[in-house]
Amino acid sequence: MENNCLACHAPLGKVMDRVFDTRFGIESPYVIAKCKDCNLEQTTPLPNQQGLNELYERYYNFSGERNTRYTQLRAKFINSFLYRIWLAIDGDISFHLARGTGSLLDVGCNEGRGLEFYQNHGFTAEGLELNSKAAEVARGKGFVVHGSTLEGFATEKKYDVVVLSNVLEHSLSPADMLRSIHRLLNPDGQVWISCPNSRSWLRSAFGRFWINWHVPFHVVHFSPDTLRAVLKTSQFEVVSMRQETPALWVSHSIIARLFAKPGQPTVQLRSALLVATLILLIRGMLFPLLWLGNLSKRGDCLVAVARKK
Ligand SMILES: [Zn+2]
Repeated sequence: MENNCLACHAPLGKVMDRVFDTRFGIESPYVIAKCKDCNLEQTTPLPNQQGLNELYERYYNFSGERNTRYTQLRAKFINSFLYRIWLAIDGDISFHLARGTGSLLDVGCNEGRGLEFYQNHGFTAEGLELNSKAAEVARGKGFVVHGSTLEGFATEKKYDVVVLSNVLEHSLSPADMLRSIHRLLNPDGQVWISCPNSRSWLRSAFGRFWINWHVPFHVVHFSPDTLRAVLKTSQFEVVSMRQETPALWVSHSIIARLFAKPGQPTVQLRSALLVATLILLIRGMLFPLLWLGNLSKRGDCLVAVARKK
């Protein structure tokens, strides 16, 4: 393998080849590799940060996805009471039901959907968002949103909670990201993390089509053990780690399996009718399987809370 482990620089071994972008149709296959020393799984070969930034700019184009039927329906659902009931059943992977007090920083806050929940649930919430259009929407809702990277974020302020909801796996250096958060936290402050679980049974079931490979945007693929390890090296102590399997993620893996082709965008992932139908079927009929997966530590998503040491 041409790359070495991005965490410990040991050699990598191939785990799965010909993994392709099942969402946007970005060309060129990737390899999932595993460090022979620390077991961290990672995407290879990787673009550098600038290359990744260009890909984000091109494919994670916020304004390109505004006011589509899919996003309108999603916004309506999230603002309804039904959403809270849904989270209680399906699993709250973005901490939208968490209550507490103190200052909270949501890293990658997008248009501020999470900020509204955190603020309504007792926190003083701020965001960090690189996408200027998304940040502007969040500011329009009255939130303080910093347009900086986490590493470059210079402030005297300390936070009680930093949220990394599906963010850490995008980092070219998760340990550095966590160390930056460590500096931003008050003593006893917490980092709340959610990310895909590389030990998920859906990975085994869907192989290359597992939606959470999400190459090349997902740089690292954490297991409970490798997530614990990076938290430990970054001076955090794990308070809790649970597993969830969102029906949305299962439906995305199914759609990828049915429709995704290398080099082509999978437009069916944005079909509101198809996604909603699959979600209801999965949650209604497969719930024992989802529940067993979580219990046997092979759920699709890791949800961790860790305290600054
Ligand atoms: Zn390693």
